[in-house]
Amino acid sequence: AFVRRPLIAGNWKMNMDHIQAIALVQKLAWTLEDAGHDYDRVEVSVFPPFTDLRSVQTLVAGDKLSLAYGAQDISPEDSGAYTGDVPGGFLAKLGCTQVLVGHSERREVHHEGDDVIHAKIAAALRHGLAPLLCVGEGLEVREAGEHVTHTLLQVEAALKGFTSEQLSNLVIAYEPVWAIGTGKTAGPEDAQELAQAIRSRLADLYSPAFADSVRLLYGGSVKSSNVASILDGSDVDGALVGGASLDAEEFAKIAQFE
Ligand code: PEP
Repeated sequence: AFVRRPLIAGNWKMNMDHIQAIALVQKLAWTLEDAGHDYDRVEVSVFPPFTDLRSVQTLVAGDKLSLAYGAQDISPEDSGAYTGDVPGGFLAKLGCTQVLVGHSERREVHHEGDDVIHAKIAAALRHGLAPLLCVGEGLEVREAGEHVTHTLLQVEAALKGFTSEQLSNLVIAYEPVWAIGTGKTAGPEDAQELAQAIRSRLADLYSPAFADSVRLLYGGSVKSSNVASILDGSDVDGALVGGASLDAEEFAKIAQFE
């Protein structure tokens, strides 16, 4: 039995236009319904591209789906001269309840550093969006044996100065960069090692009660065939799924991991 409500989150990345998004969400919802999915037991959320969010909102609201959804990114600012950015207020208005922050592809491709990630978490909190903070090391750091230190520094930098009350909906995903989209999955022991390390750091920084309330996900080539063993770790509360979330049946199977 899980202490915390598990979360299976699907990061679509830059895939699926708003027409395809409707088909995917419908198929996902039907497949989960057929399987008798209990959303109260296992939360399921999807992170489509910005341009899909209006369609997803219409579908979720119209069909009263229990599916949660959010954006893959958020502006640190609330409005103004920030061409190309999308603020948290707009996301909240579209029914988003969660937002990815600090995904490794944002850190790498868009050179997002700790300060920007911190500001994006602040923006999410201002608009009542649950930040899903992504952390994790690259291959070189892993091979140097520095993965725990590196990952905990990312967590600390991202959360600096926020109170545990502000962070009551925080979710953290540990995603070793070398396992994202590569087919290489960290072993269940790796997922548990980092989840345990993050939880104990949260206990030091805040309180054991707060640490026990935060959901910690694993991400990196999660599939229906490996999800159960990954979620075996007592500190691992779910998965952030990229590639496999684009296939409704496969993603539904992941959500039905038990
Ligand atoms: C991700 O994008 O967060 C991810 C884990 O991708 P994948 O499942 O494709 O490795």
